[in-house]
Amino acid sequence: MELNEALSLVNKRVRGLSQYHLEPREMLIKLNQNENPSDWPASIKEEVAQFCRNRPWNLYPNFVPDRLKEQLSGYTGVPPAGIIVGNGSNEMLMVLLLALMDAHSQVVICQPTFTIYRLLVNGMGGTEAIVKLKADMSFDVKGICAAVTSKPQSLLILCSPNNPTGSALGEADLRTILEAHSGILILDQAYVEFGGFNAIPLLKEFPNLIVTRTFSKAMAGAGLRLGYMLGKPEIIGEINKIKLPYNINFFSERVAEVLLTHLDYVRVKVAEIIAQRDILYAFFKSLPLENVYPSSSNFIMVRSKRKTELFEHLARSGILVRDVSKYPMLENCLRINAGTAEENQALQKVMKEFFK
Ligand code: PMP
Repeated sequence: MELNEALSLVNKRVRGLSQYHLEPREMLIKLNQNENPSDWPASIKEEVAQFCRNRPWNLYPNFVPDRLKEQLSGYTGVPPAGIIVGNGSNEMLMVLLLALMDAHSQVVICQPTFTIYRLLVNGMGGTEAIVKLKADMSFDVKGICAAVTSKPQSLLILCSPNNPTGSALGEADLRTILEAHSGILILDQAYVEFGGFNAIPLLKEFPNLIVTRTFSKAMAGAGLRLGYMLGKPEIIGEINKIKLPYNINFFSERVAEVLLTHLDYVRVKVAEIIAQRDILYAFFKSLPLENVYPSSSNFIMVRSKRKTELFEHLARSGILVRDVSKYPMLENCLRINAGTAEENQALQKVMKEFFK
């Protein structure tokens, strides 16, 4: 068979996608992926290393990560039967779309937001309706309600706090949306530990709400690939049927169990990140930037006419930030996540130089 013939056998809608891409660049200071700037202490890693040395590698992990789900239940207040754990919250989004998309009339997504939603929906053959954020990057609650009521049983995906803008939905807005909505709402709360309303209490009232969360940000575990979804046990039980068995490996499972026994440490680190974000926000406001957007997350989005020059100037100084200017509405925007105090001081010094 010719290569072109083989290529034509890949689903058209998949061939039509643009690759989710991140330019790999080695930098001293990495503020481009919203990661937690602090690694875990060696003593905690040692605990896991010991376990991994002794645990047989030839055997599958637990069929159900019961202990981890118990711990997550303690952390979130959701019963274990209402929790699925997966290979990053990205996997959870994919499983949710697999389980839910066909039963819904359309998928409603805001823009600009995390690009994976659109990629997955398009790749799986769904049709999406877009609701733009307002010019100040806040959510257009009326627009969202109009979109979900225009076609009953829409599947709604919202990200709060939103990546890459940092905007978040308050409780009243979420209630307004949920009350108007006759489909499932997938609410991505990957950054909720840094701010914004935590929607877990609403799960009891709204069986059509599913929340996704992650170990990649506040829990400083992006390398593990561990995320989870929370919802009504009956709904989660159905979605669980389409999840692959053994989707998390024993290493990640064990690390997550250990990290969840150090929540006081996590809270201290999260408070440091929030304080650093607020310092950065005040600093950015003092610069001649076109816009600095308020953020409930661990990053801040700024708009500058000199975006390209600024990006390159930072890169030459060993600081990598994220150029989000190709997103709709985000011309000339950069997203910069809060690093450690030292990293942020270095960032401030370089930005001051640039704007002087
Ligand atoms: N949701 C949002 C909004 C994100 O920004 C990210 C990661 N950047 C994810 C989900 C994916 O996180 P995970 O590492 O858990 O797959």
